[in-house]
Amino acid sequence: MTELNPELVLLALAPVFLACIGWEMWYWRRHGRDDIYSLRDVVSNATLALMHQISDAVFLLLFIVTAYQWTYDHGLKLVSSGALSILLLFLLQDFLYYWFHRASHRIRWMWASHVTHHSSERLNLSTAFRQSLTYPVSGMWLFWLPMAWVGFTPNEVILIVGLNLAYQFFVHTQAIPKLGWLEYVINTPSIHRVHHAQNPQYIDRNYAGVLSIWDRLFGTYVEEIEPCRFGITKPMPTHNPLTLTFHEWRDMFRDAWREKDLRYLWKPPEWRAGD
Ligand SMILES: [Zn+2]
Ligand SMILES: [Zn+2]
Repeated sequence: MTELNPELVLLALAPVFLACIGWEMWYWRRHGRDDIYSLRDVVSNATLALMHQISDAVFLLLFIVTAYQWTYDHGLKLVSSGALSILLLFLLQDFLYYWFHRASHRIRWMWASHVTHHSSERLNLSTAFRQSLTYPVSGMWLFWLPMAWVGFTPNEVILIVGLNLAYQFFVHTQAIPKLGWLEYVINTPSIHRVHHAQNPQYIDRNYAGVLSIWDRLFGTYVEEIEPCRFGITKPMPTHNPLTLTFHEWRDMFRDAWREKDLRYLWKPPEWRAGD
């Protein structure tokens, strides 16, 4: 379907991301809000992004591309070329993204990676870069295997995953209000602000990637009404990228070891034995 190099497409978008962050910083400065951005927060987000990108590239080379290729070779090869298959590629990946994201909040092995993205109490465009290098260990790549199995090539899979994440950059902002009827169709800044909030009614809601319909279909949608308080219920007041990457892995293994109970690895993050 496409011979676009997925890595290059995202690299080409980098100047757009940086320009938007520059605009947002200027916007908040002009509005007298110096609480939205902090230099230390941005530096730590950027460092985490770099670590994440390197880890992604290494794991892709090590085995993920091979796994997709093997699955494609032994799969159904149902997909032909054309507009319909591009639409199917987009819909299927966004649907799988919803479940990947939901699992990332409800299975501690996956939360151990995803918590990094949620641990800041600030929310701005640079928060989109705040990612963990351990996603390949948590098994993010497993969620895209069905796409290779039905007949999408590894390049197509990697490209659409990248484009989905690229879209999500733009929903990490407090500068954009609700967007009317668009809220019914696509993931918006308002919908994603709720996802980053720790207000009790907002926790584990709004898992959308690009389309917001999955949350409405599967009962996880909630509207932004009360102002959002960003961050996680177990605060992580550090800017150290290594601590931000590994603290939940450490806590998870400590809990499992202390109580000699492996269920800590797959139960929800807040689960305790005897609950
Ligand atoms: Zn999340
Ligand atoms: Zn986010």
